Amino acid sequence: MQAARLHEYTDDMSSALAIEEIDRPTANQPDDVVVEVEGAGWCQTDNHIIEGMWTEYVPQELPMTLGHENAGIVSEVGNDVTLVSEGDPVICHPVQTCGTCRPCRLGEDMYCENSAFNGLTTDGGFAEYLLTNERAVIPLPDGVDPTDIAPHADAGITAYHAVKKAVRELNPGDHAVVIGVGGLGHIGLQCLDAMSAATITAIDLKDDALDLATDLGAHHTINPTDEDVPDAIGNLTDETGVAQVLDFVGADETTGYAPDIVAAGGDHHVVGYGGHVHEPAQALVDGEFSYRGTLVGKYTELQELVALVEQGEVELRTTRYDLADINTVAERLEHGEIEGRAVITP
Ligand SMILES: [Zn+2]
Ligand SMILES: [Zn+2]
Repeated sequence: MQAARLHEYTDDMSSALAIEEIDRPTANQPDDVVVEVEGAGWCQTDNHIIEGMWTEYVPQELPMTLGHENAGIVSEVGNDVTLVSEGDPVICHPVQTCGTCRPCRLGEDMYCENSAFNGLTTDGGFAEYLLTNERAVIPLPDGVDPTDIAPHADAGITAYHAVKKAVRELNPGDHAVVIGVGGLGHIGLQCLDAMSAATITAIDLKDDALDLATDLGAHHTINPTDEDVPDAIGNLTDETGVAQVLDFVGADETTGYAPDIVAAGGDHHVVGYGGHVHEPAQALVDGEFSYRGTLVGKYTELQELVALVEQGEVELRTTRYDLADINTVAERLEHGEIEGRAVITP
């Protein structure tokens, strides 16, 4: 089968992945599930993996097929699999968990002590077939297209997971801010709108993204090229600040907003990454706000997100690309030229 594989870490996206012929995976273990990939979302994390940014956090062996936002049709199952059978459409949680360690028993899939992560620690879905397991697949309801929903496997649950934490702290009348209305942010904004009564302000450098934010439910928008962000937030909130910030960018500049825009006791959720947090300890003490990290999400949260999609609460803006165009997608995302989410159709 054809697969897009990373052989060497590089900053040059134009030749990042090599498309080659490799053996198709088979269901050898009793809980294995092989999925014919219908859609695999391209993610900023793929650019970060290509640059070698994950090597100090997880074990990686190259060459590796990237692609962690996968959905498709089950093509083969191991002997013990009962949840799905051949022909079923599924979305694949990117992590194959063991089910028996303590974090697994607590439902904390991301903390599993014996896990494999498609496209990060094991082969992923930029290929015709993907090997995963029964604990990772979620059957799709009728009428939900696997190609369209694929990016929810990571972009979607990551946004949903952060929003779910924020929503627990948001009361009607509170303000929330979404920074970055791109691949993740446009999903997070819709989840926030569906799950809370907070007043939502979107921040982005692109006016197109802000128009999209307004379409998707933002009450106010701020473009930092035209307006001072802390001043604008101060005006919108009677100088009290916002209770929850969802930062889908995670650059030095955006994490730096927190001391000036987060209300006392609030949270700045760091979802995007690449920058650093450099704020004085005294700012956190004085404002008693927190920075909170977000790592993907739980299997059950992906089920909840699929329910929101089925109810029409969350729409995904996607563009489809052939496997052959994968390095073009890598380059375009690197230059901020992808709107919504790019989906590879191997
Ligand atoms: Zn991703
Ligand atoms: Zn486990």
